[in-house]
Amino acid sequence: MILPIVAYGDPVLRKVGVDISEDYPNLEQLISDMKETMYNASGVGLAAPQIGKAIRLFVIDATPFAEDEELSQEERDYLSNFKKVFINAKILKEEGDEWPFSEGCLSIPKINEDVFRQETVTIEYLDENFKKHTEVIDGLAARIIQHEYDHIEGILFTDKISSLKKRLIKKKLENISNGKIQPDYRMRFPNLKRR
Ligand SMILES: [Zn+2]
Repeated sequence: MILPIVAYGDPVLRKVGVDISEDYPNLEQLISDMKETMYNASGVGLAAPQIGKAIRLFVIDATPFAEDEELSQEERDYLSNFKKVFINAKILKEEGDEWPFSEGCLSIPKINEDVFRQETVTIEYLDENFKKHTEVIDGLAARIIQHEYDHIEGILFTDKISSLKKRLIKKKLENISNGKIQPDYRMRFPNLKRR
């Protein structure tokens, strides 16, 4: 089932997600719905707060980035298999130089801004079978993880841009919260006045 994606301004996007246990109600269905919702919106990642649940769960499918001909063959091969579910994730370490990448977010449609993040993350998480993994990941896959991980910490990419850029997009962000946009997928707007 495709779930409505929560728009910028909804308080759930500002909550720090809580860990879940294996008996979280209908977890398998929730994960499947989140993937369907992500694919329907042509996203490469989706975090549970974006569908209204402040829990530590996100899904990633980086395979669209594997088409990028500017990347090395090694990175493309890696991205072409990067589909994962992250439960109760914890970033243990971030290292390397910060590099800019133009990020977008399904909760903030049609806005893209350069965000600086470090190259490499070490992350500990449970997969959909509650099997524990600790992995060191870099490049674009790390970038997507950092963006989704921020969501379960209540952080949005617009928090990480310069105050000048933030001023320039202020009106656009208000329009998103007020539902004065035409997204290409189903959304839920915090300030939409129903008549
Ligand atoms: Zn996002």
